[in-house]
Amino acid sequence: MEATDKYNKEGAFVEPVLICDSCTKVILLDDLHKQGMCPECGNTKVRNVKILNDENLLRVNKWVEEGKVDPDWLKLFEEDKGE
Ligand SMILES: [Zn+2]
Repeated sequence: MEATDKYNKEGAFVEPVLICDSCTKVILLDDLHKQGMCPECGNTKVRNVKILNDENLLRVNKWVEEGKVDPDWLKLFEEDKGE
């Protein structure tokens, strides 16, 4: 299965990583479910990730290495960079 089929960017919150609407830091969906808010700032509004800036990319890379995030999900953003 292609990564783009697996994760539809227009879909509901099925993605493993979301972005905080307030502090714009990435949040693990697991952490959001556990805490019910952004672990960084306590905001409860999140949105789907459209773009990963360098700081957030580093965080997500770490989560992939730790096995918390599916590497296929990260591929969606690596492909956007056109490397
Ligand atoms: Zn936040």
